[in-house]
This record gives sequence, structure tokens and C-alpha cells, in this order.
Amino acid sequence: MGDMSDALTAAIARRRDDLITLTQDLIRMPTINPPGHRYGEICEYLDRRLHRSGFASEYIRAYGTPGDSEKYPRWNLIARRHGTRPGDCVHFNSHTDVVEVGRGWTRDPFGGDLDGDRIYGRGACDMKGGLAASVIAAEAFIEVHPDYAGSIEISGTADEETGGFGGVAYLAGQGHFTHVDHVLIPEPLGEDCICLGHRGVWWAEIETYGEIAHGSMPFLGDCAIRHLGAVLQEFEDKLYPALARKRTDMPVIPEGARKSTMNINSFHGGEPEPEGRFDGLPAPNVPDRARMVIDRRFLIEEDIRDVKREITEILDGLTQNRKNFRYDIREIQRVIPTMTDKTAPVAEATAAGIRATCGHAPRYVVSPGTYDQKHIARIGRLKNCIAYGPGILELAHRPDEYIEVSAMERSATVMGKVLERLLLARHAPATAPKPPTVRQ
Ligand SMILES: [Zn+2]
Repeated sequence: MGDMSDALTAAIARRRDDLITLTQDLIRMPTINPPGHRYGEICEYLDRRLHRSGFASEYIRAYGTPGDSEKYPRWNLIARRHGTRPGDCVHFNSHTDVVEVGRGWTRDPFGGDLDGDRIYGRGACDMKGGLAASVIAAEAFIEVHPDYAGSIEISGTADEETGGFGGVAYLAGQGHFTHVDHVLIPEPLGEDCICLGHRGVWWAEIETYGEIAHGSMPFLGDCAIRHLGAVLQEFEDKLYPALARKRTDMPVIPEGARKSTMNINSFHGGEPEPEGRFDGLPAPNVPDRARMVIDRRFLIEEDIRDVKREITEILDGLTQNRKNFRYDIREIQRVIPTMTDKTAPVAEATAAGIRATCGHAPRYVVSPGTYDQKHIARIGRLKNCIAYGPGILELAHRPDEYIEVSAMERSATVMGKVLERLLLARHAPATAPKPPTVRQ
């Protein structure tokens, strides 16, 4: 398919100025989340843009999801363009939200400055550059192959940065992925890198109890913070060494995340602390409650029930061995690890596209944290999903975030080749039944 691919590469190269303008336009809409600014505006922009190349758009508001309000409505857009005959549906999913600006910028975070090969701005790499690359890929593919089979979808979804409940989770729950066969999420992993999935998350709050008394006579009360300190000591002595021994076969990056980890998110006891500092003096009390929030990241080899049991066994051990120890534990959030097989059709098509475009084999990675793939895998029940897109992951959420135009061009070329492989006639002849979708 040398000639076809050359035509596609040329069509993408011709769109270089368009790619730059599109990326700048997207950056100039400050879709900061929280609270969720301008979702409607960016959906309308994408709708107008994609309408020109024959896409029909559906606007979906995630009514009643966290943060959704009349002031900050959670608007999502799915744009769809059918080919000339039946075939697979390839879906590109990008989140439209960006995180807050933060300090330390030397560029206008919403200016979209072009300097050499770089376009600067909040969201440039995470992930408006990836969104722009997928739009250019689809438009170039349609120009070169107007006679394709199946359908192409491009979605712009809300709230990924805050868990995706008003975005992909909502769409998956409403059945918007049931007809989709292949999903690419253009998160900034690098143009020669295929991200197969992510580790799991278990967040919980642990609370210990004591008895209030005067601070000059602590023996009359029972200090909840000392009980919680005993929990921390058990974690240091038993849990952390056990976690460090658990290694995964998942190709997680960075290397340090290739084992189980746990962060203590917060630790608090005693009187509530006001913002800033005390004006007066705190009252001398023995605290009767203390809390910590743990953020446990686990591996595909681990079962969520074992992850929880490891913690509760330590707590139950303290209940037996430590005088007056009482606790509660409350789950805050859970995400099951997910990993797509390298032989899944979308992963193989992307690997072939990378080999043809970059001249070497892809790097396969797994993300240490989660992203919207969790909702597609669990709620949408679609395993044929990867993250693939331009950009340098370490720049995400940082000051002077940027995306390289050349990286966007290369990854747009790879995405165009993915469409060639999945949607051209030889893969989906009109008379043949639709190939089975990989689901679990
Ligand atoms: Zn992102």
C-alpha cells in the first residue's frame, strides 16, 4: 500500500498550516477544569470544523454528573462520518478540559504562541495537540480515500482531569460506545509509543477513634492520633516492604511505578486547622478522632479484594493487640487496572503505522495513573482501546507546556494509516459479515 500511504502522508503535510491554526484555536479556548469552563464553546468549534468534511455531530450534556450546572454544563460532542458501505467504527476520543495554569509561565498560557516547531499553551500537549492531530488525520484520510468502509468518530469529552464522570464515563453508561469497534485516545505518550492501559487505584479514608480529655491529663482520655500513628507504623514495618516486593509484567513507565505503590494523601487529627495560621491558641485537648487518606496504586496481577484485605488485616491486627483501638475504613474511589493485548486490532494497526512512519518498532507502555480508558473498558465493555498521541508526557500540567508541530504531523500520519488499515475495502468487503468485535 505504498502509493496510498504516500498520498496520505502528502495530504497531511499539505495541512501543516491548518494543523497549527487548529491547535492554536483549541488552546485559545481556556477550558479549565475545575470548574469546567467553555465546554459548550469548544464543542461548537469542533462541530463547525468537522461539519466541513461531512461529519454530523451529536451534543450530549452529562446532566447531573459532578460539577454539572447551568453555569458549568458538562457538554460532550461526538462527530460521526459514515463511509460508503458497512465496516468497522474507529473512534478517536480526546478530552477537551485542561488543568489550571499554575505559576511559573514565561508564555501566555492561552496565547497559542508558535515558536520554531513548538506551540505553547495550557493543554497544548495534554491533549489539544492530540485532538488536532486526530482531526487532521481523519480529514486527510477522507480526502485520499472518499470510498472507505465503516465509520469514523471523533469525540471531545469533558472532565477527564477530574475523573471523567461528566465525559467518557457518562457516554459509556448511555451506550455511546456499543457500536464502536476501535478506540484511540490521543493522550501525549509520544508518537512512537502505544499505551496499552493503566494501573488500578484504590483510595480510602481510615479513621481512628479516641476519647476527649484535658491536654494536661492525657491519661484520662485516649489519643486518636497515637492510634493513627500506630497504623502508620504498621504500614512502614509491614505494608511498604510487601508492596515493594510486588513487581508487575505490565510495561509501566516510569520504571519506579512497575511495582505496587501507596501514597498517604493526608493525615489529620485534633481540632480543625483554619486556613493559614491560628490567631489565638488552640484549646488543650486530647483528640478523639484522626483520619488519613491513602492512595494505593495496584497492578493487573493483584485482585482488588486482596488490596483491601492487606489493609484491613493490619487494622484488625491492631484491634486485637492495641488497647482501645477502634477504626473505620471508607472507600473513596476504585479503578480496576486495564491492559489491552498487543494483538488487539487497534494496537496492531497502530504498531504497523508507527513502523511505516517512524521506521522502527513501537514502544509499548502502561500508564502509572489512570485516564479515560478505564470507562471504555469497564462501562463500555470494549477492550480494543489504546492511548496513542503526540507530545511529551512530562510536560502535562506543567508551566510552559508545549506541543511540537512535527510530532503532531507524524502522529497524524500514524493515525491516518490506522484508518487505512482498519477501514479500507480489503478489510471490510461489502459482502462479508462484520468481523467480531473484541469485548469482554
Ligand atoms: Zn490528558
